[in-house]
Amino acid sequence: MPASERLAEHIAEMPLVDHHCHAPQRLSQQIKAAHLRRPFTESVVSDVIELDVPHTVAYRTMIRWLAGLLGTDPTERAVLEARAQYDPPSYHRLLADDARLAACYDDYLYDEERCYSPGEWAELIGRPVRPVVRIETVVERLLPHAGSWDDLRQRFAQELVAAAAGGAVALKSIAAYRSGLEIQRVDAATADQAFLEVIADIEAGTFWRLEHKTLVDALLWEALEVAAELGLPLQLHVGLGDDDVYLPTSNPTLLRAVLQEERYRHVPIVLLHCYPYLREAAYLASVYPNVYVDLGLTLPLAAGEATDIVRAVLGLAPANKVLASTDGHALPEFQWFAARLWRASLTRALGMLVDENLLTDTEALEIAAMILEANAQRIYPAERSTS
Ligand SMILES: [Zn+2]
Repeated sequence: MPASERLAEHIAEMPLVDHHCHAPQRLSQQIKAAHLRRPFTESVVSDVIELDVPHTVAYRTMIRWLAGLLGTDPTERAVLEARAQYDPPSYHRLLADDARLAACYDDYLYDEERCYSPGEWAELIGRPVRPVVRIETVVERLLPHAGSWDDLRQRFAQELVAAAAGGAVALKSIAAYRSGLEIQRVDAATADQAFLEVIADIEAGTFWRLEHKTLVDALLWEALEVAAELGLPLQLHVGLGDDDVYLPTSNPTLLRAVLQEERYRHVPIVLLHCYPYLREAAYLASVYPNVYVDLGLTLPLAAGEATDIVRAVLGLAPANKVLASTDGHALPEFQWFAARLWRASLTRALGMLVDENLLTDTEALEIAAMILEANAQRIYPAERSTS
């Protein structure tokens, strides 16, 4: 019997702490096909959503698995009709139960108006939902009220302290999508100059989001300082992600200045997504004590090579430095599918390592439990939070 068959029943039962995801949108159960397809690409081009997504391995697999759960034919139309028979609470709960979600850490400042709040989502799925604070959004809201760089950084720190007191379990940065991961040290005078340039943009009506590299960099160091003080991890989007990402500057090896900084060596830096920089991320996790690798979003999009991706990361990264998130967003199906795929690909990847006599069954199961649950429980301060 292949080892994966022995591991499967145990890994299928393991709870998942989904340490990076987004609450779904408030939608009726009757949705169009385009809605169901939308999370399965990072493109916002309608032709990609309409013409290409149905031909991805990820979407085809999701439809088949979902049809199995809902007891209907494995077609998009049948799945859409079947989901429309549920009320939202019972549908969300069905998927959360099947995904064995233990808790969700919700980056709630993404598309906040259209999505359930952390409290609403917790009620809907019957699980704890902990807030994760997207720092660039916090800064964008503070900017019009700040009088100087020094004033901005103080207001920023106060917001983060208040968020932690209110139960936030992590900070999150999308610097990779704004100005890249080559984060440089910025002195106060340079930061103040950058602040004034951004304020001039706001006053001229040309500002639409924070992407001034000097200011993004300066704020990341401030976030690290607060994270160190509060004992919070910092999540960083890496590699594929929002459709505006420029891949060459979202390579995690560009984070060298941050990672070399001794002062923040006890702040867990969680690299999210990582595709295509899987081996770069695994390497960083193998040499820096505070670097962790996650494959959320990567697995459910690159589903056709999910097992190879998990294996590539486990090839070098220590198992105590690998975490599983879904990056679920928009619809509950995406999170559910990603959770299932994590278990399936972990089972196959670990099974291969056992079959090659590189791990025992016991070690493989220990590693699966670490990746799905224990590593997140260790590095995030969830026990300090309110649900
Ligand atoms: Zn995300």
